[in-house]
Amino acid sequence: MVRKNKSKSFEVSMKGIFELMKKYGHEQIVFNYDKATGLKAVIAIHDTTLGPAIGGLRMWKYNEEQEVIEDALHLSQGMTYKYAVHGFPYGGGKAVIWGDPYTEKNDELLQAFGTFVETLKGRFVVGTDVGISSTDLVSVRKQTKYVVGLPEEFGGVGSTAVITAFGVYQGMKASAKEVFGSDSLKGKTIAVQGLGKVGKELVHFLCQGEAKVIATDIFAESLTFVRENYPQVDIIEPDEIYSVDCDIFSPCALGGVLNDETIPQLKCKVVCGAANNVLKEMRHAEMLKERGILYAPDYVVNGGGLIQGLGELEGYNQDWAINKTAQIYDTLLRIYQISKEEKITTVEAANRLVEKRLQIIQQIKSKYLGK
Ligand code: NAD
Repeated sequence: MVRKNKSKSFEVSMKGIFELMKKYGHEQIVFNYDKATGLKAVIAIHDTTLGPAIGGLRMWKYNEEQEVIEDALHLSQGMTYKYAVHGFPYGGGKAVIWGDPYTEKNDELLQAFGTFVETLKGRFVVGTDVGISSTDLVSVRKQTKYVVGLPEEFGGVGSTAVITAFGVYQGMKASAKEVFGSDSLKGKTIAVQGLGKVGKELVHFLCQGEAKVIATDIFAESLTFVRENYPQVDIIEPDEIYSVDCDIFSPCALGGVLNDETIPQLKCKVVCGAANNVLKEMRHAEMLKERGILYAPDYVVNGGGLIQGLGELEGYNQDWAINKTAQIYDTLLRIYQISKEEKITTVEAANRLVEKRLQIIQQIKSKYLGK
């Protein structure tokens, strides 16, 4: 049986896993089962041309096995692109635990997972993702040193929200330069969807830059914070955000928000936000282009958090992380240039940049074999 993924990016059948690996270029998929704790986990390593694979651990109550594999494959491929576009010597990987993070997560289960990570001898380094906090990684760390994203008191670099928002802000400035001819956001209207950890910080940068901010969230608590601290922000209902009159739409909530239903409603000239996998399907990049809306590829603009997180491996230096994140501005302008010259979408242009880098390095070296 072959089941189609919602995103149509991956189709998994137990028969077709090798075909998928060949198609999307995955090097390795490791299935882990631990009798004592009942742990069921998948570690997907997409490409280690640039270096060891690093990626978050997601714990989620998936409905079926195929969804677990799809998520691991999809997310690990995305990580390869993120590292490559930001010029890091790391490869893409992702781990997924099949289970309910609210009721099934415990120290023993996470330690069992850590044991599996250790068997890969550094070919895969694990961080946090949905369902897994920095504190959870402390349990994983008991069994393996191949962990990144620990709490500050355990040598980690702490919250990445501010630097992620700073990167998105740089992305907006570059996009404004491309579309409006100036990178000043003063007086520009920005519609922010999601006022969580990143969205709140982005509002701060935007208000400092004297932009006019319209925002929404589904949680009253997030709205209260913004109302109290930034009274100049215009709060609207969640379903009004797509059709509101604005210059830039900034999705900072969940993925898949730009789709057949929402794209026709947009009145903006630019989309630039922190959320991962903003486009429901790849074809939606073309749809935005046809509507004359410039799309800042998500994995390029939301790289600030990853940059700060990697500081943990390299020895964290705040100035270095800020400078590196500020480069998102130039990277985006380069992507926009390629997109215009080649008459392709900005997503294709970003992917092209990544694939070129991987090809060059592949000619010099091969896979990362661990220590
Ligand atoms: P968060 O959970 O703190 O905030 C998300 C906010 O979005 C919440 O306040 C939630 O209520 C709101 N929301 C959810 N659905 C909504 C809807 N339909 N309309 C309006 N608001 C809605 O998450 P975060 O850390 O701020 O991350 C935001 C996005 O950025 C996520 O997609 C995340 O994957 C991505 N991202 C975050 C980082 C980081 O450093 N935190 C780095 C890279 C990418």
